[in-house]
Amino acid sequence: MQYNYDFEIASLLIMCIIGLHFVCIRQFPMDKTRLFGQFLIACIGECAANILSCVGLANAALVPQWVNEALAFAFFVLEGLSSYLLFRYFMEVCELRGRRAKQVWCLGGIPFLLFLAFALLTPFIGFFYYFIDNVYYQGFGADLGYAYIIYFFVLNILIIAKRRRVVSLRTKLIIALYTVVAVSMVWAQFHVRGVLLTSVGNATVLLMLYLAMQNPSEMLDPVTQIGNEQAFFLQLRNMQNHKAKKVIITVHLCKFRHIQMMLGLGNSNEILGEIGSFLYRLCGKFHVFRTYGDTFTVLVDSEERAEEIEQRILERFGQDWTLRENHVALETNLIEQRYPKDFQTSGEFAGMRQFLLESAEEAGSSAVLRVDDDTAAQYLRRSKVEMAVARAIKEQSFEVYYQPIYLVREKRIASLEALVRLRDEELGFIPPDEFIPLAERDGNIIHIGAQVLEECCSFLERHVLSNASMGIETIHVNISMAQCLRQNLPEMIRSVLEEHHIPPSMITLEITERTAISTPEQMRKHMKQLGELGVSFAMDDYGSGNSNCSYLIKFPFEEVKVDKDIVWASFEKDAARIILENEVRTMQEIGVPIIVEGIETKEQAKRMEELGVDFIQGYYYGRPMPEGEVLRYIRQFGAQTGE
Ligand code: C2E
Ligand code: CA
Ligand code: CA
Repeated sequence: MQYNYDFEIASLLIMCIIGLHFVCIRQFPMDKTRLFGQFLIACIGECAANILSCVGLANAALVPQWVNEALAFAFFVLEGLSSYLLFRYFMEVCELRGRRAKQVWCLGGIPFLLFLAFALLTPFIGFFYYFIDNVYYQGFGADLGYAYIIYFFVLNILIIAKRRRVVSLRTKLIIALYTVVAVSMVWAQFHVRGVLLTSVGNATVLLMLYLAMQNPSEMLDPVTQIGNEQAFFLQLRNMQNHKAKKVIITVHLCKFRHIQMMLGLGNSNEILGEIGSFLYRLCGKFHVFRTYGDTFTVLVDSEERAEEIEQRILERFGQDWTLRENHVALETNLIEQRYPKDFQTSGEFAGMRQFLLESAEEAGSSAVLRVDDDTAAQYLRRSKVEMAVARAIKEQSFEVYYQPIYLVREKRIASLEALVRLRDEELGFIPPDEFIPLAERDGNIIHIGAQVLEECCSFLERHVLSNASMGIETIHVNISMAQCLRQNLPEMIRSVLEEHHIPPSMITLEITERTAISTPEQMRKHMKQLGELGVSFAMDDYGSGNSNCSYLIKFPFEEVKVDKDIVWASFEKDAARIILENEVRTMQEIGVPIIVEGIETKEQAKRMEELGVDFIQGYYYGRPMPEGEVLRYIRQFGAQTGE
């Protein structure tokens, strides 16, 4: 029988063009891409074997029988293989992992192995085909070949349907279209056996998959032309799928923001480009990524190689980078994370990297930070604390303690500072100094702040409003930077006050100078609006940063709280004492009342009174206490002092 193989030649041409493009424009080496490449090769091989086999059979007089037999054999093996590889490709698209992947594999792997066994036996038992006098005849099991192909169509559709949530719409459309084309081809082939159509379906699916495949330019950083963050995380996932041991080096450019400001965007991009090409030359394509802003990430195969690369990077950063005629010195520190020793998931990797990046600032330049037991324990603790905060927000389980503030002139407790407390079932008591900065970082402080204010207002409503003789005039509430960044802060505070019928004058918001100066415009706006309402402001931790009196001119603070450290130092050192004395005098002259914190002994309290401070807060007058205790304390204090 003479076969018409025109369609096969056209299909071969299309597949070869795809192959050429695939090789020239290299994709990121991931499992999906690798399987696509294998499927493509198997399809090209299958199609070529089919065409050659037809040519051989048409020229039986010239071509020896063993050549025709070998071509027929190759065709069947490759046909079985291509269906199996396409199934493996879809398994990867469906992101099947672990036990489930093994179960699904059996559904495709076992039929493939059976098909292969029949193909291997065919030369002996004539299952798919047999030859007599160099003429090809279909074997008794030839139709099973069609059944095999149909089985894989159905299987692919079923696994994609089952995993429809993780599969993109594009892929679903491709498989639908492909199935229509391929099934029609198989049907046509079954009925018109003289025209070969086997590869038309394959060429169609290859073309569609290739067009829909990852676009390498989406994975490239436009500034440095190396892989971007997305490409890096895809590689990371790939690495985890293979459980391949790797070392990931993060190259962090210290203070790059300043350099960007000094040199301008264009010039600093040029430097980034230079760094990118240096790392690219050092580590090779697909191993270097510009992960975000001022970090590059390098993937290395072994710890020894990592050490060598780290050395080379530090050496290079020891020299200047040239920007046209200018020389620019850049500082870097490196972070080394080993897989799977130091992290298991992408989330753990990113969290730990962020944690190490923060300590990198302190470690100074040219440091190589590694994940040792200490950092791992610190990181674990931090993650646990963050989770405890999230839990407490959900369960509204923060407690508010109140610390008395003593009014020196009238010898009574006139205010309270609200201080938040977190007690976790697993971690026990977590000090605010530990969890507040973490909550500031992830924005959870907004919820904490809201719960604290709500609690304070409820406390005032229940115990203070109706009990003026208690003498509590205000509650001091700490407000964080993240809260101040919120446009609706005044509105939020006003509505809570109204809900509990609290006069705004009963609330003093404590803000650190750092908060005030980091968002000066916003802060002034908030202070104006809240001030008009009647809320007052105290500058907290005065003297702990680069404070100077100019903030008191710039912002309408009604009170100043001197930082504990300054107060403690004033008992130890003459210089600190003189500074504190001058500050108190300055405040008195300006007319801003002063509160000193951290007073623990009678002696210290006496010294502060002599100095002329207006308010004293500290363990001497009382530690932060839960509401019941603080109410009893105030009553007792009043009774003792005869009020
Ligand atoms: P802060 O605002 O400076 O609060 C005063 C801190 O000093 C409190 O620590 C208080 O317990 C402590 N303190 C008071 N008197 C003494 C003393 O005589 N000796 C000693 N050694 N310490 C004293 P606490 O409660 O651990 O709070 C630490 C920080 O956490 C606060 O410092 C504040 O910055 C923050 N914080 C606490 N509650 C809140 C809150 O509700 N919201 C916000 N944003 N921050 C809060
Ligand atoms: Ca405070
Ligand atoms: Ca303070």
